[in-house]
Amino acid sequence: MGGMRFVVIGGGPAGLRAASTAARLGADVVVVERDVVGGAANLWDCVPSKAMIATGALVSRARRAELLGLSPLTPEVDLKALAVRVRDVEDRLAASGTSQLESQGVRIVRGAGCMTGPHTVEVAVAGEAVETLDADAVLLSTGSSPRVPAWATVDGARVLTTRQAYPPPVIPEHLVVIGSGVTGVEFVHMFSSLGSDVTLIVSRQQVLPSKDPEVAAVLEANFLARGVRLCIGARAVAIERGDASVTVRCDDGRVINGSHALICIGSIPCSEGLGLESAGVTVNAAGYVPVNHHCQTNVGHIYAAGDLSGRLPLASVAAVQGHKVAEHVMGLHTRQHRHLDYDKAASAIFTEPEIADVGLAEAEAFALGRKIRVTKVPYAANSRALIDGDSRGFVKLVSDPATGVVLGGSIVGSHAAELVSVIALAVTANLRVLDLAESLFVHPALAEALAEAAE
Ligand SMILES: Cc1cc2nc3c(=O)[nH]c(=O)nc-3n(C[C@H](O)[C@H](O)[C@H](O)COP(=O)(O)OP(=O)(O)OC[C@H]3O[C@@H](n4cnc5c(N)ncnc54)[C@H](O)[C@@H]3O)c2cc1C
Repeated sequence: MGGMRFVVIGGGPAGLRAASTAARLGADVVVVERDVVGGAANLWDCVPSKAMIATGALVSRARRAELLGLSPLTPEVDLKALAVRVRDVEDRLAASGTSQLESQGVRIVRGAGCMTGPHTVEVAVAGEAVETLDADAVLLSTGSSPRVPAWATVDGARVLTTRQAYPPPVIPEHLVVIGSGVTGVEFVHMFSSLGSDVTLIVSRQQVLPSKDPEVAAVLEANFLARGVRLCIGARAVAIERGDASVTVRCDDGRVINGSHALICIGSIPCSEGLGLESAGVTVNAAGYVPVNHHCQTNVGHIYAAGDLSGRLPLASVAAVQGHKVAEHVMGLHTRQHRHLDYDKAASAIFTEPEIADVGLAEAEAFALGRKIRVTKVPYAANSRALIDGDSRGFVKLVSDPATGVVLGGSIVGSHAAELVSVIALAVTANLRVLDLAESLFVHPALAEALAEAAE
């Protein structure tokens, strides 16, 4: 290519996708990564959590073996084998990410990147500068890390963040999970499936405060059926550590004793030590780097994507942001460019039942006073769900009553995270309910519930 030097700091989903797309388009790309190719997504977040949940899901399914005509199964968790497996999935993904980039001619430089000027990135290993890279364009994609409140001291043994949980040396006897957003509920599901007693501290009146109350209610019912204790309307304010216990105190005076505590109260952006001031890049009060719809920062040739950009903190969104950045860097945004529409991002919660949604939610439409058509089909009416012995859940489709265009949908039930892709495609491509209803899906398949909801 004509010499576009593109330096990416941080090799998570945003950085890797940007590097790969830019290399394909002809840029001279360097990725600076201080830890592992694949990023926190691979090492700490999406991948290990879902690998642990996959094991938990099998345990949970085995406990229901009798429903499928088997004598009772009582699986036992082998923590060492589980740790090896989780690491193996991470390693394989890091290796395939690395070899894909290298095959595209991307140079991967190990070390911490720091901007020393608007066009220069210094790489340091163990605090020692090892290389200075000149750049025509820079992507900042350094991600985020778990937020630890001032009142907690994480010791990695009894008081944990998610980063110490893959898996911990012992399965906690009684885990107290602080925070009931997506991460909190996924870890409740994970550890209760693996055999822990769990108490969940819920600061609002329902788990998943940003979700549809109907969806939250299904999850709460599942938690209660598993024996999870819900401590509703309580905010944790202190954790005390004993020799073999933890005590979590709440603002309303409630005290919860457990063997371990897990803090899941969100994340903070990794913007410190990046040299943003030297490059003239603006950071907001919360430490995020504000961007426009091309993911440009206030300095035109410096971009930010992924969690650092303070938009939707999802690996899937980070990757598409990275792709858009690469196209912009290479001047492709002028042709057939579609801006990334964050409102059309599908997301999932890997609990039992699985929960996934995309686009306009029913409650949101009512709040906006927008006329919608909502159709709902229970899993119990779907042959595949009954064959698989798990008919809990439903599919909900939101469409425009005048045009039939699919505006959104939510799915609660097994394989929701896979099925929602069909609705995501419909929402992105402005398909109508008729397009879904007339698609020739497989029988018996859960997707038939979507076609039925579209009728
Ligand atoms: C427990 C948990 C589970 C999650 N599960 C999901 C899920 O199932 N699906 C989903 O879509 N999202 C999930 N997320 C969110 C997802 O992990 C993040 O949105 C995603 O990782 C953000 O990607 P990123 O590209 O911003 O960078 P990250 O994945 O955060 O990676 C950033 C990289 O930058 C590197 N880095 C940082 N600073 C420097 C520096 N100065 N120099 C060089 N390298 C640097 C880091 O080492 C890291 O490798 C989860 C989050 C958590 C906490």
